[in-house]
Amino acid sequence: MSASSQSAHRPLEGRAALVTGASRGIGRAIAERLAGAGARVACVATDAANCEEVVDACAARTDGALAYGVDVGDTDAVASLVGQITKEFGGLDILVNNAGVTRDQLLLRMSEEDFDRVIEVNLKGAWNFLKAAARPLMKARGKIVNISSVVGLTGNAGQVNYAASKAGIHGMTRSLAKELAGRAVCVNAVAPGFVATDMTADLAEGAAKELEDSIPLGRVGTPDEVAAAVEFLIGPGGDYITGQVVVIDGGLSL
Ligand code: NAP
Repeated sequence: MSASSQSAHRPLEGRAALVTGASRGIGRAIAERLAGAGARVACVATDAANCEEVVDACAARTDGALAYGVDVGDTDAVASLVGQITKEFGGLDILVNNAGVTRDQLLLRMSEEDFDRVIEVNLKGAWNFLKAAARPLMKARGKIVNISSVVGLTGNAGQVNYAASKAGIHGMTRSLAKELAGRAVCVNAVAPGFVATDMTADLAEGAAKELEDSIPLGRVGTPDEVAAAVEFLIGPGGDYITGQVVVIDGGLSL
């Protein structure tokens, strides 16, 4: 294989990537795709032990993959973890803010704690990593992808906390894209529709079928279909794309 076809095959060779929520679901698929494209990957979840399997899967594809544990909502702990990862990987080129939670409830039944926690993990958690990683990412002229949701565009009954956190991700993504464009850092959001993961596993069978029937492509998405879009934005194909919300939802939000 020639040097140029090899780099086309593994365009992220030598890059260091940090993926939050990498232990399972969409984050795991993203970590594995980035590793397959040659990146070294720092896999972050609430507990490093939860990332053992994904680290093994990444290590089979790339030179370096390590597991880390943190609560993404803990600003000081995130700052110190990002410092540690940047040191251990010799810099940071790619950040994927993917960790997220739901605490669904109709507004009249939603507790303040359920509102605050979803904002703390989904929105403040992303801000914590953006703030801590901004300098190394500027130095690297890096790429950032924040995982949001179509619910941040369309809204959804029973999810005022979650939808607000994801709409917040859209505003943060567009604002930061403007701030960092002068440093050649691209910042985008990927907004999945209904994807088969632990997060959606406890939907009642009837509700899941009804949702599936409302998707124009007629099926739920897979974590890897979301990861493919993230990989594209992070790779050379995304070099002139910034401040966008890329919807991967089989047409659900049409
Ligand atoms: P998932 O299977 O439930 O996985 C959630 C991931 O986030 C896990 O790795 C979990 O780590 C991590 N996490 C949760 N709270 C955390 C915290 N406080 N600190 C650190 N890590 C934390 O979820 P998913 O379906 O893959 O969703 C991934 C992202 O896609 C989320 O942002 C979600 O909102 C978004 N999304 C999902 C769908 C969907 O249909 N699945 C649709 C639209 C958007 P542990 O393993 O340690 O708990």
